[in-house]
Parts: sequence; structure tokens; C-alpha cells
Amino acid sequence: MLSQILLVVLIILAWIGLRSILQQRHRAALRREQNGAVRGDGPSGGQPGRTTEHVEEMVRCDHCGVFVPRHQAVASSGRLYCSDNCRLEDRS
Ligand SMILES: [Zn+2]
Repeated sequence: MLSQILLVVLIILAWIGLRSILQQRHRAALRREQNGAVRGDGPSGGQPGRTTEHVEEMVRCDHCGVFVPRHQAVASSGRLYCSDNCRLEDRS
């Protein structure tokens, strides 16, 4: 009888120990994730697990409304266009 009680106590102690170890690991993983988010995504991000490659800003054509990457946009007298075509059509 006494050995059975001892066995139960041992199982409970083992369970408590295992749980605390798992919680510590979980907390460490969370901390790593938060650190990664701070380092990687910068002010615009905040989603851990996403790739952190730079996404270019999209601008809207002032003539047809199409969105194009900023480096592809054609700027003319303070307005932005998706192509030379739109710039010329907007002027006429
Ligand atoms: Zn356009």
C-alpha cells in the first residue's frame, strides 16, 4: 500500500517537473520569436514567421488608377503615372 502511494507521488512530481520544463521551453521560444520580430520586420512588420524581404511601395497612376511599383512610375509635374502613355494622355 505504501509503495503504491509512493508511486503516485512520484508520478505527480514527475508530471509537475515535466510541465515546468515544457513551460520554460515555451517561454524561451516566445522570447526568441519576439526578438526576431523586433530585429527583422522593423516598424512596418510585426508578423513573425513572414519573410522579411523588402516590399517596394506601390503608387497609383493619376490617369488610369493602376498601381505600379514606385521605380516604374513616371513622374511629371507633381503627378505619377504608370507609363509614358498615361502621362501623354493625361496632358492632352
Ligand atoms: Zn496609367
